[in-house]
Amino acid sequence: MQRSDDLTIVIPRRRGGVSTAFGMLVLAAGGYMVFRYGESWLRNLLLYLSQAGWARSVVTRFPPAWRLASRFVAGESVDEAIAATQELNARGMSVTLDYLGESVTDVEEAIAARNQILYLLDRIHAAGVDANISVKLSQLGLKIDENLAISNLRMILARAQQYERRVRVDMEESKLVDTTLDIFRRLREGEGFRNVGVVIQSYLYRSDEDVQRLANEGAWVRLVKGAYKEPASVAYPAKADTDAAFVRQMQVLLSDEARARGVYLGVATHDDKMIEATLRYAREHKIDPKEFEFQLLYGIRRERQLQLVAQGYRVRIYVPYGTAWYPYFVRRLAERPANLWFLASNFFKK
Ligand SMILES: Cc1cc2nc3c(=O)[nH]c(=O)nc-3n(C[C@H](O)[C@H](O)[C@H](O)COP(=O)(O)OP(=O)(O)OC[C@H]3O[C@@H](n4cnc5c(N)ncnc54)[C@H](O)[C@@H]3O)c2cc1C
Repeated sequence: MQRSDDLTIVIPRRRGGVSTAFGMLVLAAGGYMVFRYGESWLRNLLLYLSQAGWARSVVTRFPPAWRLASRFVAGESVDEAIAATQELNARGMSVTLDYLGESVTDVEEAIAARNQILYLLDRIHAAGVDANISVKLSQLGLKIDENLAISNLRMILARAQQYERRVRVDMEESKLVDTTLDIFRRLREGEGFRNVGVVIQSYLYRSDEDVQRLANEGAWVRLVKGAYKEPASVAYPAKADTDAAFVRQMQVLLSDEARARGVYLGVATHDDKMIEATLRYAREHKIDPKEFEFQLLYGIRRERQLQLVAQGYRVRIYVPYGTAWYPYFVRRLAERPANLWFLASNFFKK
């Protein structure tokens, strides 16, 4: 398989007139739908598929899917994750390691995930790499029992504290936002875990208020645009509105007041316009490059990652690993459906 920074994927070619004809038909139908309705219907379809169990079992049995997914996922084992971290550290970047998994429906599975994450922390410490971790509350059992997720997170925070590492709670679908922020505050303010951080999604209407409150609290925040399928009743349908909110919220979280209260912002985006707006704001307000960081996903815009390092900015790469890669992978396809066309066209070519 060939790799390149624009994610052009060359899949080994199949032979056979029937599959070629079928492929042409799929591409023609997809092309017509994109022409007729724009790319947003495809994005919505992919976001639906990212949560559909039937699609997961079909796609994960399809070898070219893993070959494409491995562009975004460091591997299936902790060893591979640590090796990827060492490579990124050697290039001047910090890492957030993410043991993939979400929406578990079984207590045993939530406990197994917690144990894997505790083991990950042991391995990070033993290897002495520059890495924190990210977790999802739904992976720790939030959808089964809130107390289960809290007790799992508490154990993870305690172990991370022992190793002086930070833990970021990823933000998931909008119906989990209130609970996620409550649990974050309960553990940070209530129980004194100062090593916990949280994520805000700019596409939600509520986020201006959440950002203001977190700025007052001096929280450790990652700002993202948002990756889930949300209705227009809770999130901006238009990208331009999300982008404007992102810039507004970045400015609040990078302000002198917020930084004086202890906010440390992770500007998590691959969008040059968002990156440039951040650089401009930092220059105009004479903010030291060490007072915030850029965060990008593993395998996406690698040249930009290195460019930011060369310019003297802090860069942290979010590195996912593990066998439960399907939903993460399909959300990445949804962010850039062009990747899907490359996959389809190369697969069906003679
Ligand atoms: C470190 C990090 C952590 C994140 N954590 C969360 C989280 O906890 N919760 C959450 O909801 N979301 C999270 N996200 C995802 C985020 O919400 C967006 O969905 C994602 O970053 C795409 O938005 P963008 O800001 O890159 O801008 P976009 O406007 O989507 O993209 C801008 C440009 O970036 C490039 N690009 C973007 N995505 C891709 C891709 N998949 N493949 C190739 N090129 C691409 C393209 O050139 C595109 O034109 C995280 C993102 C990052 C970087």
